[in-house]
Amino acid sequence: MTITEFKTACSAIEQEYKAKIAAAADLAAVEELRVAALGRKGALTDLLKGLKDFSMEDKKVAGPLGNALKGALSAALEEKTAFFAAKQINDELNKTCLDLTLPAFPAPQGHRHPLSVAMDRMTTILAHLGFEWAEGPWVEDEKHNFDMLNIPKHHPARDAQDTFFADTGSPISMVLRTHTSNVQSRFMEKHRPPLRIMAPGRVFRNDSLDATHSPVFHQIEGLYVDKNVSMADLKQDLTAFMKGLFGNKAEIRFRPSFFPFTEPSAEVDVKCVFCQGKGCPVCKGSGWIEMLGSGVVHPNVLKNCGIDPNEYSGYAFGMGVERLAMMMMNINDIRTFYENDVRVLSQF
Ligand SMILES: [Zn+2]
Repeated sequence: MTITEFKTACSAIEQEYKAKIAAAADLAAVEELRVAALGRKGALTDLLKGLKDFSMEDKKVAGPLGNALKGALSAALEEKTAFFAAKQINDELNKTCLDLTLPAFPAPQGHRHPLSVAMDRMTTILAHLGFEWAEGPWVEDEKHNFDMLNIPKHHPARDAQDTFFADTGSPISMVLRTHTSNVQSRFMEKHRPPLRIMAPGRVFRNDSLDATHSPVFHQIEGLYVDKNVSMADLKQDLTAFMKGLFGNKAEIRFRPSFFPFTEPSAEVDVKCVFCQGKGCPVCKGSGWIEMLGSGVVHPNVLKNCGIDPNEYSGYAFGMGVERLAMMMMNINDIRTFYENDVRVLSQF
């Protein structure tokens, strides 16, 4: 073979294999071409075997030429292999219908229940007014739920129509607490005045569920006992509380009422926040909305808890959280809070 023939052969191999590599259909075909061109019995290997018969002069030309061709074919094979590897990954992704270029779906975000929001707002205001958080049991004995709070044995509140009696197997008659006032009796039993507590929590009444009643609802109770506590303190603190809740224009008024555990007792109305007292459907034209029950703690209650009513006095108030939340959020059916329909709840 002459050097000219060698050069021609090199060009032929380069042309043939570059075309074949470009046309290769898959990884196996590329591998076959690698063997056919560069393998032990491959076309280029075969051609380079002829180098040994060349003169020193020709070897200096043919050697680098052969090496360059080998490099070019290797590079073309590498490129094609990388192409098929990437294609394989793409095909896999397409099979699972995964389009990585699509924007992500927004993850649904949870949020707080409107009752928790309302409860938090109320307890935060009370905490600012110096009330300390206190809790008590849901299943309560009659002593703490009724007796100590001056609710006598024959009182209608103790009737099965109002109260759930719990069969605990214990000889002591147990009830599901009908108000958070059981926290009052339990707290005063263990602590000496001055004391200033709020008792937020769940209470139970034997009511059927309708738009304004529920057998389970929430109350927040406030209790302040110290020397010389009077209705004036109650009015001042409740006014501050309502201003915190409904803004600086909030006004309250007391209406005489009766509760066994307070004397004197008063229902507290707040000037309608919707019509500023002019009269609207929410306040049924009266300009005032009934908010809570309150009064000066009955001396018997203090006595029952081991506090001397001649030395100390106190006030107490209790309100329904649902009732306030319904007003704050303009909800007209109490069942909205318990049905937990996400479409409804997510509006608040
Ligand atoms: Zn009104």
